[in-house]
Amino acid sequence: MRYILALDQGTTSSRAILFDHAGQVVAACQQEFRQLFPQPGWVEHDALEVWATQLAVAQKCIQKMPPRRVLNGSYAINSIANSAAADQIAAIGITNQRETTVLWDRQTGQPVAHAIVWQDRRTASRCEQLRAEGHAGMIQQKTGLVLDAYFSATKLEWLLNEVPGVRARAERGELAFGTIDAWLVWNLTGGRVHATDVSNASRTLLFNLHTLQWDDALLELFNIPASVLPAIVPSSGVFAQTDAALLGVAIPIAGMAGDQQAATFGQVCLQPGMAKNTYGTGCFMLMNTGSQPVASQNELLSTVGWQLDKVAYCLEGSVFMGGATIQWLRDGLSIIASANEVQALAQSVPDSGDVYLVPAFTGLGTPHWDPYARGAMLGMTRGTTRAHIARAALEAIALQSADVFAAMSQDAGLGLQELRVDGGASANDLLMQMQADFSGVPVVRPQVLETTALGAAYLAGLAVGFWSGVIEIVSQWQVDRRFEPNISPDDRSAKLARWRKALARAKDWAQD
Ligand code: ADP
Repeated sequence: MRYILALDQGTTSSRAILFDHAGQVVAACQQEFRQLFPQPGWVEHDALEVWATQLAVAQKCIQKMPPRRVLNGSYAINSIANSAAADQIAAIGITNQRETTVLWDRQTGQPVAHAIVWQDRRTASRCEQLRAEGHAGMIQQKTGLVLDAYFSATKLEWLLNEVPGVRARAERGELAFGTIDAWLVWNLTGGRVHATDVSNASRTLLFNLHTLQWDDALLELFNIPASVLPAIVPSSGVFAQTDAALLGVAIPIAGMAGDQQAATFGQVCLQPGMAKNTYGTGCFMLMNTGSQPVASQNELLSTVGWQLDKVAYCLEGSVFMGGATIQWLRDGLSIIASANEVQALAQSVPDSGDVYLVPAFTGLGTPHWDPYARGAMLGMTRGTTRAHIARAALEAIALQSADVFAAMSQDAGLGLQELRVDGGASANDLLMQMQADFSGVPVVRPQVLETTALGAAYLAGLAVGFWSGVIEIVSQWQVDRRFEPNISPDDRSAKLARWRKALARAKDWAQD
């Protein structure tokens, strides 16, 4: 067995990546799928399309597998019909967009409606109602999460209440609920296994972080019949075998974790106090807090990281507009033609000229949680150019992440030693230097940036003995580049003070 296949089911595309024993990428395939916006603030996916694209990229990836030398010296040709290709795969690991909610019929496998995506805001008023009724404290204590439409519970409740006939079908035990991990496992096993892993379960608002089980009081509060729920399994372990018809042979499914948790594992942040920040559309920072959940004093989420034998918990902070701020420079302002251009443009000026961009286009996440904040650009003068705006945009990504990092350091009660980074925008050296400067710690970029898929591969590979243990995977992690802080503490304080002033102007804007 030469490979582990990671299925990385993201918000905008499905990807499949083959890793070899050294943790290197051998083949990768990606396919986008439709984003559905039926009403303002609503975001949906067709779950069947999510499954179809995920299966297609897995099959293509197997076809792209390097040919295997056979005994007579010729090369076997890989094809789906040729099970010789797929039988080189020791296990499959799944990682996925989190919180997105699917409800389907156990008999037919048909979803009762489109999946409601994590970004969907349709249940915001329901959350406000529950908050007004005084439930937020209890929910936070049990789940480690804030009461927000981001998580699955109110989305599932909406499907049960609003799709005709669905609640009665659920009460009769005919329907199955799952986040995307569970939906993929169901389909990969031909409907034989209905299971989710602890890290995905911990994003539903229905899961008790302390007992590691579905919580009866929460099920009652959100009116969820227990019959729809998947079994909860660890993140690493052989849970199921794929239906042999799909990939040529039956392959064990042996790893599962939500995308940010998988990335934290892929960055081998396996000791308490180790943290990573992923710079994608948004920025997600997770820190390992060890074997106990830490209740945040600074508006961070407390969540399950993963479960091997034991559970590791994490604190998490989310920035909604990370790399998406650069997309806005490209698509909204048209001041760059591609994201790659932003670094050169920003470096054409020595500083932002005291321009601050607060990219609160969809409100602010950690630590502000202000859904009414809106984007603002401050400090412009007649001398301001698009280069200053580009520089301010990069600074805004780093400054928002610096705020999350500071909140995390306070909660952790220990000075964080360094920040590991990944995601598309972490390729930007200027941005990484800004992060080191504003956070005051070294920022470390690894050689393999596919950390989300790698984390899922590690979880699966450890379960089947492909890797001997965590010591082996820790030794695979290699530094590409280390960025040391390069400004004085005084300059850092001055910069953060200006940023806080800009933030204050943007907060609460959409509220009359
Ligand atoms: P996701 O997984 O959320 O789709 P990726 O990890 O693929 O995100 O990263 C893509 C994001 O990174 C986009 O928002 C893009 O604007 C941003 N990005 C890509 N390259 C750069 C760059 N060189 N500098 C800054 N941002 C970049």
